[in-house]
Amino acid sequence: MSTPSIRVGQGFDIHPFSGDPERVMTLGGVVFDGPGLAGHSDADVIAHAVTDAILGAAGLGDIGSHFPDTDPALQGADSIELLRSAAASVRAAGWEPQNADCSVVLDAPKLAPHRDQMQERLTEALGAPVTVKGKRPEGIGALGRHEGIACWAVALVARS
Ligand code: MG
Repeated sequence: MSTPSIRVGQGFDIHPFSGDPERVMTLGGVVFDGPGLAGHSDADVIAHAVTDAILGAAGLGDIGSHFPDTDPALQGADSIELLRSAAASVRAAGWEPQNADCSVVLDAPKLAPHRDQMQERLTEALGAPVTVKGKRPEGIGALGRHEGIACWAVALVARS
């Protein structure tokens, strides 16, 4: 089997809304009006999905193996920095991220006013273009009941 020169990866993440009114909402590295999502880190579902997508593309396992949610050092971690670290691992393994694209499923908060800023932060951390799209859950299931936010991402890497 010949070694492929490009590989695709897929990532998914979901976090419930926090019951803590003080909890900060961070999506794509941008702070939104709260309440935020529950999680060990800053619970940035977009950054987490992109991180899993590029790790998967490079065959480097998953976000949980690189950044365990049992690690006290990662409590409240800035997930943009986790993405930056994962991108460095991908490069160290001989792969160059090409782009990532995300679909975020949520009713609120509205992403559009902060889309450019999220894309800029994610793009800067990955070192390749990251695009973000919002999609309404149309009232279906847990996401439709506003219990949390989910994000799907795909990423492409090429042999460096
Ligand atoms: Mg997560």
